[in-house]
Amino acid sequence: MDERLEYAPCGYLSITHQGIITDMNHTFLFLMGYTREALLHKHIESIMSKANQLVFHSYFYPNIKLHGHVEELFISLKDVSGGTVPYILNGRSLVVEGVAVIDCVLVQMSKRMDYEQELRSAKKQIEEAYWEKEQALARLGQIHTEIQQKQSELMELNAILVERSTTDKLTGLRNRRYLEEKLSGQLELFRETGEPFSLLMIDIDYFKRINDTFGHQTGDYVLEKLGSLLRFHSREKDTAARYGGEEFVLILPDMAADESRLVAENLRQEAELAVWDTGRLTVSIGIATCTAGDSEKTLLHKADTALYASKEGGRNRVTHCFDFTAKL
Ligand code: GH3
Ligand code: MG
Ligand code: MG
Repeated sequence: MDERLEYAPCGYLSITHQGIITDMNHTFLFLMGYTREALLHKHIESIMSKANQLVFHSYFYPNIKLHGHVEELFISLKDVSGGTVPYILNGRSLVVEGVAVIDCVLVQMSKRMDYEQELRSAKKQIEEAYWEKEQALARLGQIHTEIQQKQSELMELNAILVERSTTDKLTGLRNRRYLEEKLSGQLELFRETGEPFSLLMIDIDYFKRINDTFGHQTGDYVLEKLGSLLRFHSREKDTAARYGGEEFVLILPDMAADESRLVAENLRQEAELAVWDTGRLTVSIGIATCTAGDSEKTLLHKADTALYASKEGGRNRVTHCFDFTAKL
C-alpha cells in the first residue's frame, strides 16, 4: 500500500461485497488497536454491535448496490478492548484487477461526539435553570397574591375594629367618642362655611322607674327600642349617638333652629305614641343651634341646659336654648 495512504489522517478499509476485510491502513489499526493479522479476512460485522450490524445491512449494502457508493454513514466499531469507536464512513464500490471491492474511508467522530454531548448537557442545564426560575417566579406570584389577600383581610378587620370602637354595643348607635369627633368636624365646617347645624339632647323621663319596676333587662330593651326609633327618624347625614345611660344626642347638619324644633317635636311625639312593653314612655329634649363663638363644650352645655329646662317644665317637652336665653 502507498505510504501516504497507510498513514493518511483517516482509517481506510477495503472489503468484498460479502463484507470480508481484504485490506486496511495503519491509521485504522492504530485507532482500533488490532494487528493486521487479526482483521485480515475477517468479516467487517465481527467488529460491530448488533445494532450497528442492522444499520449496515439496511443502509450500507442497499446503497452500494443501488448507487455504487455510501456517504456519511454514522457507524460505531468495536476496538480491541471492546470499546466503541464512532466513525463517519464513506464507501465506494470499484473493480480492481477484475475483482469487485468496496473501499471505505473512516473518520473518527469521538471529539465531535464529546462536543455534542457537552452541548446537550449545557442545554439541559439551561433548561433546568429556566424551569427553576419559572418555578421561583410562580412561587413569588403566589406569595404576592397571599400578601395582597392578607392585606385586604387586615383592612377589612381594621374597618370592623374602627366600626366597633365607634359603636354603642347596646343600641347599635354611634358612641360618645364618635359623637365628639363628629361634633368637632361639624364646628369646623360651621367656622369655614357658616352652615348652621343643631344638636338635640334626648333623655328618657323617669327611666329609673322602668328599671325599678321591670328590671334592668327590660330597661335595656327600652333603650334599644328608642335607639331604633332615633335611627329610623334620622336622615343619612345626621348622627344619632348614645351619649350615656338613657341620654341620646342627635347632630342635625345643615339645620337651623326652627326646623330643629320640628324634628325634636316629631321625635317627642313618636316616643310618646310608640307602644312600649312598659306602658307609656316619654322623652324630654333640649336643643342647641350653633352660633358664632360656640365650641363643643358650650354647645353641649346649652343643649343640656335646655334639656334641664324641659325637665323642669314638666317633662315630655322640647326646649330650644334660644327660648331659654330669651327668658333670661
Ligand atoms: P329623669 O326624668 O329626671 O331623667 O329621671 P330618670 O329616672 O330618667 O333619671 P335618673 O338619672 O334618676 O336615672 C337614670 C337611670 O338610668 C339610672 C340608671 O340605673 C339607668 N341606666 C343608666 N344606664 C343604663 C343602662 O345601660 N341600662 C339600664 N337598664 N339602665 C340604665
Ligand atoms: Mg332620664
Ligand atoms: Mg339622664
